[in-house]
Amino acid sequence: MEDYIIRATAADNQIRAFAAYTKNMVETARGIHNTSPVATAALGRLLTAGSMMGIMMKGDNDILTLQIRGQGALGGIVVTADSKGNVKGYVNEPMVILPANDRGKLDVSGAIGPGTLTVIMDIGLKEPYQGQVELVSGEIAEDITYYYAVSEQTPSSVALGVLMNGNDTGELVNTVRQAGGFIIQLMPDTDESVISAVENKLSGISSVTTLLDRGMTPEDILNEVLGDLGVCITDRYDTRFKCNCSRERVEKALISLGRKELKDIINDGEDVTLNCHFCNTDYTYSISEIKELLGEL
Ligand SMILES: [Zn+2]
Repeated sequence: MEDYIIRATAADNQIRAFAAYTKNMVETARGIHNTSPVATAALGRLLTAGSMMGIMMKGDNDILTLQIRGQGALGGIVVTADSKGNVKGYVNEPMVILPANDRGKLDVSGAIGPGTLTVIMDIGLKEPYQGQVELVSGEIAEDITYYYAVSEQTPSSVALGVLMNGNDTGELVNTVRQAGGFIIQLMPDTDESVISAVENKLSGISSVTTLLDRGMTPEDILNEVLGDLGVCITDRYDTRFKCNCSRERVEKALISLGRKELKDIINDGEDVTLNCHFCNTDYTYSISEIKELLGEL
């Protein structure tokens, strides 16, 4: 199954909902960054959130950035998404290995530690919108739920999951088996009866990866969670891990260093290699290329 996101409404537009299947995106990120299982889970959850939150933006050029900074071994995670389903991201320390938590799950919360979640939305205004909250659990879904409550005053339920493959003896194999999530939001003035119906339903739902592993699609999942409330699926979007870096963009970054920096590089006499953190691509420039860039200044 290809990765995709659906948008839906329920309870006569009192609820808006998104659900995503993101296994390929998360497996691509794992391959690019060579992440350990716990780092894959952490990055994969934030990528999944970013994919859905990106789709929520209206403008063609809008850009969403999610930053987690934590005191745990992972250091931090950065995810950037546009409004067309393109998502990219990286984790500071991709090799971190931690024992499973007390529920036998990958210890994402322990790997992130106490810290902050920052949401930056560049929607073409003079200054990008920025909201920041303390992490409440470090499991990411709860932190994004908390962000919506505090920064956007939107009651939400966020579920994000990444399940790794296991082998015959139950050991983890470092490839992604399932990934996905959903975001359910209550619009202002939602009826109390609708709120309690949603809460009731959510309390009985297994993890999103359990549902995906049963073969459920994003449509099935929203029907499972909101079925009684009249789900109306309004849109479907493809989504993917995609970086928009290029040699030309990196050249612009080099030029922006200015004359003096470029001259210093030339005097050092060694090729310069710049790495795109998002997709781990190296861009190498020879001294003669740097001289050409200096000439363009
Ligand atoms: Zn890149």
